[in-house]
Amino acid sequence: MFEKILIANRGEIALRIQRACREMGIRTVVVHSEADAEAKYVKLADESVCIGPAASRESYLNIPAIIAAAEVTDAQAIHPGYGFLSENADFAERVEKSGFVFIGPKAESIRLMGDKVSAKDAMKKAGVPTVPGSEGALPEENKEIFRMARQIGYPVIIKAAGGGGGRGMRVVHTEAALLNAVQMTRSEAGAAFNNPAVYMEKYLENPRHIEIQVLADQHKNAVWLGERDCSMQRRHQKIIEEAPAPGINRRLIERIGDRCAEACRKIGYRGAGTFEFLYEDGEFFFIEMNTRVQVEHPVSELITGIDIVQEQIRIAAGERLRFKQRDIVLKGHAIECRINAEDPYKFTPSPGRITTWHAPGGPGIRVDSHVYSGYFVPPYYDSMVAKVIAHGDTREQAIARMRIALSETVIEGILTNVPLHRELMVDTKFMQGSTNIHYLENKLALRK
Ligand code: ADP
Repeated sequence: MFEKILIANRGEIALRIQRACREMGIRTVVVHSEADAEAKYVKLADESVCIGPAASRESYLNIPAIIAAAEVTDAQAIHPGYGFLSENADFAERVEKSGFVFIGPKAESIRLMGDKVSAKDAMKKAGVPTVPGSEGALPEENKEIFRMARQIGYPVIIKAAGGGGGRGMRVVHTEAALLNAVQMTRSEAGAAFNNPAVYMEKYLENPRHIEIQVLADQHKNAVWLGERDCSMQRRHQKIIEEAPAPGINRRLIERIGDRCAEACRKIGYRGAGTFEFLYEDGEFFFIEMNTRVQVEHPVSELITGIDIVQEQIRIAAGERLRFKQRDIVLKGHAIECRINAEDPYKFTPSPGRITTWHAPGGPGIRVDSHVYSGYFVPPYYDSMVAKVIAHGDTREQAIARMRIALSETVIEGILTNVPLHRELMVDTKFMQGSTNIHYLENKLALRK
């Protein structure tokens, strides 16, 4: 096992990884920007290295500075967390070439999955159902593009092969709008992702977002840890996640889960990963794979009892998975609310000093957060300040516990979306379960 790991991230996930390391008796190095120098997890780390100014480009995305920090501190492995460099294949390669272990998949797997066209193709070959669409990237000939759209049937969605973060997508309802949409998405994709390739998919009108968590070791063992329902989204950003997904036939999910584990073995995947699907009318359609730990991993941890971050570390150290699929037993129900520093109605970011911070507690409540009274939320990064996770024997109990937790939560000095979460926890449709990806936006539109 490693003796020292460098954490190349910030905020709650840096603290989460640090806690996993400490439990395993591994020393930690935290790298941080000038804006995060005072963070508590920086002080808690065995060592810390300032790698640059506040701007991410000069610090958390600064590959040479991170590698240099690993060299001077004699770290053996680097955990990238989520966001920042976590899905950057060049970074993974540089880490390994410099003699460190990258806690994540091989660079080639990141590359394969980072291009959504090659990812879909690989999944199709591995027997995972995908959204009907173009075979590969769209060709140059307009006639071909028209033919494809007609064959798929309108509405279609044009997506950038290199897209991410909900950007680089355009829905097309009529033939008249098709070519323009293709052209615009191409030029946007070229500018934003350095890759103008776009592809076409059937646009599903009312899907749910369901994803499968997997763990795979370097010895071709792979398991899936149940699913998560992340349909509560605003602008393609998840705000509530839960596990298991309410109201979906277990046999159907088991079939998909087994396919995902099988796909991991086929492509030689290692580490933690997530297969994202749209689910509509009893069918699953793969949209993309995330080759890292996700924000919402705690809900899967609570229902399986498996520490996903610790497993990532064990896998990176070359260990075999300590469990088989039949050992994975789902227990109860878990829900996560992402608490963001933002106006709960206008959604504008609300950085600044937190004057009062009372975190909730009690049976079945977990809070993953790096903040405290007096903490200054910097304006430079993601606005998430905490994740409140509730676990219960049933979905009803998890919701009830979440309601209590949110009622106990006091955050003053900045605005947060806690009021929105309180509202959603008593929302009739949410309480029934199975709302689709448009539910929240539609609800918010009605409010205006
Ligand atoms: P990103 O990598 O930018 O997150 P995804 O491919 O995961 O992009 O898609 C993000 C979101 O866009 C999905 O969760 C869904 O809400 C919507 N979306 C993507 N593809 C489709 C589709 N074929 N039909 C309907 N909605 C889609």
